[in-house]
Amino acid sequence: MNNDSGIKVKITPEAYARLICYIEAVESEISGLGEVELKDGNIIITSVTTLPQMCSAASTDIKDDEFAKWLEDYVKAGGDPSKLRLWWHSHYEMGTFLSAGTDVPTITDILGTTGADWFIVIVGNVKHEFLVNVEIFSPVRFTIKAQLELMVPISEELRAEVAEEVAKNVEEEKSMLTKFGVDFPYGIYPRSTPSPLSDTPTGFVKVSKKRRKKWMQSRTQD
Ligand SMILES: [Zn+2]
Repeated sequence: MNNDSGIKVKITPEAYARLICYIEAVESEISGLGEVELKDGNIIITSVTTLPQMCSAASTDIKDDEFAKWLEDYVKAGGDPSKLRLWWHSHYEMGTFLSAGTDVPTITDILGTTGADWFIVIVGNVKHEFLVNVEIFSPVRFTIKAQLELMVPISEELRAEVAEEVAKNVEEEKSMLTKFGVDFPYGIYPRSTPSPLSDTPTGFVKVSKKRRKKWMQSRTQD
């Protein structure tokens, strides 16, 4: 089952840059795994890697014995196999789809037997197009179509600098709650709006900055 879920799979800038480099490093397909973490309800790809493989224009074949050795080295180096929840591959210059003959059986047969209850599958290409699926294996097998979202870290320094610039350049129109329970910033209002500033019985009333200021002063004096 495929549905446009609105679900986003986030990726760190480091992992995204590395993924692009892998895809652009060969003039063929290429594939690999990656680490995925769940944090505050977000699915985040934190790293990507390649495995020993045979690449051609139309396929990538992971070498089984070398994959076992790779996994052993990964664990020895402190890797956590439960984080290996991304299988990615590139279609080089072709579109990003899951090929029924190769990709779908790979997901079902290989990843389905790893024991993981869910996996992220990405198909990319040199145009930086990405198909992103959340493949669920348990309790039932289904696919959720997702979007890849690049995480952009925002420093406190940048936030402070922007806040300072905004304070200098941007004047916010402060609305105020009158005794009528209606906001009256300056502007044009239909006469039906209960404005204490208006002496026009019908039509529109213009509340100028000057008029509003005068009115506010009069209110303060009350
Ligand atoms: Zn493919």
